[in-house]
Order: sequence, then C-alpha cells, then structure tokens
Amino acid sequence: MTSGLVSAAYLIAGILFTLSISGLSKQESSKRGNFYGMLGMLIAIIAVFLQIQTSSDSPNLNIGYIAPLIICGSVIGLYFASSVAMTGMPSMVAIFNSLVGASATLVSFSSFFHNYQGTFGENDIIHKIEILLGIFIGSVTFSGSIIAFGKLRGSISGEPLLLPGRHLLNLALLIAIAFLGFIFLSNGFDEVQVLVLFTGLSLVIGIFLVLAIGGADMPVVVSLLNCYSGWASAAAGFMLKNDLLIITGALVGSSGAILTYIMCKAMNRKLSNVVFGGFGNSSGSSPSGGGEVVGTITEITAEEVAEDLKEAKEVMIVPGYGMAVAQAQHIIKDITETLRAKEVNVRFAIHPVAGRLPGHMNVLLADANVPYDIVFEMDEINDELPEVDVLLVVGANDIVNPSALEDSSSPIAGMPVIKAWNARSVVALKRSMASGYSGVENPLYFKDNTDMLFGDAKDTLSAVFAKLG
Ligand code: NDP
Repeated sequence: MTSGLVSAAYLIAGILFTLSISGLSKQESSKRGNFYGMLGMLIAIIAVFLQIQTSSDSPNLNIGYIAPLIICGSVIGLYFASSVAMTGMPSMVAIFNSLVGASATLVSFSSFFHNYQGTFGENDIIHKIEILLGIFIGSVTFSGSIIAFGKLRGSISGEPLLLPGRHLLNLALLIAIAFLGFIFLSNGFDEVQVLVLFTGLSLVIGIFLVLAIGGADMPVVVSLLNCYSGWASAAAGFMLKNDLLIITGALVGSSGAILTYIMCKAMNRKLSNVVFGGFGNSSGSSPSGGGEVVGTITEITAEEVAEDLKEAKEVMIVPGYGMAVAQAQHIIKDITETLRAKEVNVRFAIHPVAGRLPGHMNVLLADANVPYDIVFEMDEINDELPEVDVLLVVGANDIVNPSALEDSSSPIAGMPVIKAWNARSVVALKRSMASGYSGVENPLYFKDNTDMLFGDAKDTLSAVFAKLG
C-alpha cells in the first residue's frame, strides 16, 4: 500500500472516530456513532498492517505471530463487552484504561531500546521527552486505573485513604520524577536504571492519587483516567510516528476531559477537589453528614399508588441507580404504555449523574424502548414539576435530595438536583431508608407530600402494574 493510500485510510478513520464521538452524544444517533467507531477501527487496523508489511523498518514482521493475538484480544473484548452489566461499566472502563496505560509505557520502553546505546542523536531531546511523557502518563494511568478498578469492584475499600502529609508526599514524588527525567535527558547516568526508577515512581504516584479518592468521585476519576489514557496514546503516536494514533489519542484525551468537566459540574465538585481526594464513603451506608433530618415517613401500598396514577393527568418518573439494580426499566415501560393509553401524560426526568455513569438511565430506558421524546434532561423539566400530579422516584436518592440546595453543611451542598418535592405528590420506591452513593440523609422522604413504597423496585412496580388494569 502506498503511503498516500495509508494517509487516506488514516484520514477516513480519523473522520469516522470524530463522527463516532459526535454520534454518541445523542441517544438517537448513538447506535450510528458506535458503528462509525467500529468501522474506523477496522480501517485503522488494516491500514496499520499494510503499512507495516510494506515498511522498510520491519520487513520481517510475521503476521502469523500477530493474528492470534488480535483474535484473542477480540474474543476477550467481545466477551467482556457483551457480558458486563450496566452497573459494572465504570470498572470495565477502568480496567481497559489500565491496558492503554500499560501499552503506552511499553511502547515508550520499546522506543527507548530501539535507540539505546548511542543511537540517540545529540539533538534527539524531543524523542527522549516523548519517551518520558509516554512512561509517566502511561504508568500513572496504569496503576491509577488498577486501583480504581479494585475500588469499584469492592476488592479495595471504597473509602478515601488519606495518609497524613499526602500532599507533601505527592509533591516530593513529583520532584523526584522531574529530577530523574532531567538526569535521563542529560545523558550522564545509566539510562536504563534511571528510566526504571522513573517508571517505578510514576506507578507509585498513580496509586497514591487514586487511593486518596473515594465515594461519588470514583466514576469521575475513571473518566479522568480515560482522558489520561488518551494523552498516553497520543504520546505513543508521536514515538511511533503514527498520525492516526496521535489523532485518536487526542480525541480520547479531549473527550475524556470534557466528560470529566460535565460530571464535576453536575455534582458541583471542583476537579482539584476530586484529584486531591477525600470525598465520600462507601455506597448504601448509613446516612451521614449534613444536618439531622427530623420527621416521620409515610408508607403507601402498591394498590394506592396504582389508584393515584389512574387519577393523575401528569406523571413524572425520576429513575436512579436503584432502577438499574432492580432492572425495573421494562416494567416501567409497561406502566408508561398503560397510562398513556389512558391519556395520562407520562414523562421522565433524567439527572446528568443518575446511576453510576453518564447516560446510564438513558441507555436503560432506550433498552426498554421508552420513546425518546418523553425523556427530558433535568434542566429542561425542573420548572415544570409543580404541574406534576404524581412523581415516582424509582431507586433514586442523591439526585432528588433537597439538602443539596437547602443545607449548606451537606456534603452534596450545591449539587444541582431534580426538585422532586415541588410535585403535588411524590412516591419514593426503594428497599429501605439507606442512603445513596454519597452517604447523605435525604429529607425528601420526610416531606408531607412524599410517600414511601418499600421493596425491590421491579417487584413493587410489578404490583402497581397489576393493579393498574
Ligand atoms: P443513589 O446511589 O444516590 O441512590 C440509589 C438508591 O437506590 C439507594 O438509595 C437505594 O436505596 C436504592 N436502590 C438500590 N437498589 C434498589 C432496588 N433493587 N430497588 C429499589 N431501590 C433500590 O443513586 P442516584 O441515581 O440517585 O444518584 C447517583 C449517585 O452516583 C450520585 O451521588 C452521583 O453523584 C453518583 N455518581 C454518578 C455518576 C454518573 O455518572 N452517573 C458518576 C459519579 C458519581 P435502598 O438501598 O434503600 O434500596
């Protein structure tokens, strides 16, 4: 394949990746976005193969060694992608990020050894900087992602580990890493030893950074590590002189940065507070933090909820993480259809960080074939809540917590929330009075216009559906 054709293939793949990301930003176009991404990757892999085959740098490349690796990788990827539950998605992204970090580090070492023992030219400082950047970002991404994976899976405690003087320790590590980098650039010492030490310290700082983060910040960190993995790939692209890897890395890096920003904004968290850690405790714990909530709760039966729904004109459903756990989206769809057939206006209000990953609720509702045009973003719908007769909070907690707006001492103070309490009546469906992800008590459940329907959301909603008739 001539270099012109390779460049054209790279350009097409780059355009497809860009179209893929823009397609993924909307529910209606997300399937198309995924398809563009897959096609772009296929073209990229074929182009890289053909380029290597015709390259004078690697004339002895044996496809017989590489093909089995690609097949194994594809089978493993297919297996995990098709078997992962939506709730396990952040941990899967974390472990995949770690692989990108490891690859960038290995590519950097490979690039180093390719030029080792004197073949670094006098002016090859740029190449050495690329190697250092690739190893630093790659190692931080690798070790940080492994820790994030362990925390999200529960194999490591989700609590932030706040070592005394950790900021000073991190600073000292950064200075040592910068010093080693300087020594590496100045050619004075054994380059291999310096680089191994540099890698070790970069791995340690990745571990320390993520160990200090916990609670609701974890998925934000996964998004941030995803952003790092993009920049690590871009650094690898510079070393391999591969334009497409640079483009793809930059796309992943910048889209990861934008997603991190969106998540921080939706949770009213400063990125610096996320990165330097300290938030939260384990999910589903006893409520803590903020002012004490006083009052009593009122329980309601499935039959009564069905009656209320039948009499309502305007119904709003606010799904949260509990809907995903209960897999209640299909029964919600059935209830929605039944009510719409009775001329009830049913709509959905989606918080940007409902569930455990951005778009979590949209994906589940789309999976159940809930029509897109009755699903609204929080900002679109918040002002219309006073017109709602019955608002069902299905397994959501933090995203409808009034203390975010009313209690400045609450750990989630300032987080934008769906103002469910403004509806005429609210039914909260959950299994107990346990807190949500951020471990904060929710005064919504104690309000006069709120009733609690306890139980697994799928079971209670099935009982409601049975009475809707
Ligand atoms: P929460 O974690 O706040 O609350 C979920 C609620 O669902 C719990 O209180 C739980 O109560 C209930 N629940 C669990 N299982 C079931 C079940 N089977 N049936 C019925 N109820 C159930 O979730 P939200 O969606 O309200 O908020 C998301 C949280 O995650 C926020 O704190 C957000 O900041 C955080 N987060 C989200 C990210 C994202 O991108 N989406 C990223 C980072 C953080 P009980 O145990 O009593 O049933």
